[in-house]
Amino acid sequence: MEEKKTFRELGLSEEILQAIEKKGFEEPSPIQALTIPILLKGEKNIIGQAQTGTGKTAAFGLPILDTLTTNNSKHVQALILAPTRELAVQVSDEIISLKGEKRLSVAAIYGGQAMGEQLRRLRRGVDIVVGTPGRVQDHINRGSLDLSQLSFLILDEADEMLNMGFVDDIEKILESVPEEKKMLLFSATMPSKIKHIAKKYMGDYEIFEVKKRDLTSNLTEQIYFEVTRGDKFEALCRIVDIEEEFFGIVFCRTKVDVDDVS
Ligand code: ADP
Repeated sequence: MEEKKTFRELGLSEEILQAIEKKGFEEPSPIQALTIPILLKGEKNIIGQAQTGTGKTAAFGLPILDTLTTNNSKHVQALILAPTRELAVQVSDEIISLKGEKRLSVAAIYGGQAMGEQLRRLRRGVDIVVGTPGRVQDHINRGSLDLSQLSFLILDEADEMLNMGFVDDIEKILESVPEEKKMLLFSATMPSKIKHIAKKYMGDYEIFEVKKRDLTSNLTEQIYFEVTRGDKFEALCRIVDIEEEFFGIVFCRTKVDVDDVS
């Protein structure tokens, strides 16, 4: 088997290595081992067929954080598009936790949040924007988001964004960014619409696939029990009882069930 590379061997700087250590990552996940060196060298665009939980955020976040300049004026250097507000916030939190002491500002810009606050934030200057496509497009139209100096564009969960009807917004955004930027596209599936976007906008790119078995967290064992409706509650109680320490989340279908079970 091929020897696993360390984060240091992937070529990351001391500053970012310190942040990784603080974060507690010991070794790169497969997708990280692949994308980090390529993005640090700025050689190619990448399509990653990868599911949630494979460590995608650090796979693009670490090389971006390492490459961006800190004496930036007011233009955005990296734009990450994500399908939902929750994902945008999650990605932006993860990137903030990976940047360590490096003076880069990160903002999540999503639909449903008041415009005023986002406009103020963008005016002050942001290096990395994580946003949902519709709201990002709004800001481009208003002139509040300047992408003319963009170095990196990332489409996270691209298939989900298309499923949610963001294809026009995405195409418009892709048309308003510089051609020299590096682009990454992550998607769990590769429908023809995604291939079309790649062909039209990504120039030279490399595709790779991260298999399920490569997930960063496979510590969860999955079990199911078939019980009649009337026995469900008792069965759950018994499972909780036989576990020495039960820490968990119980999902229910209705509000009433949630009240009863809790
Ligand atoms: P994805 O974007 O693929 O859904 P994330 O980037 O959110 O996955 O990563 C999933 C979880 O694994 C996060 O909590 C993240 O901090 C953690 N993680 C990512 N890379 C590593 C690594 N190399 N070592 C340990 N944990 C990691």
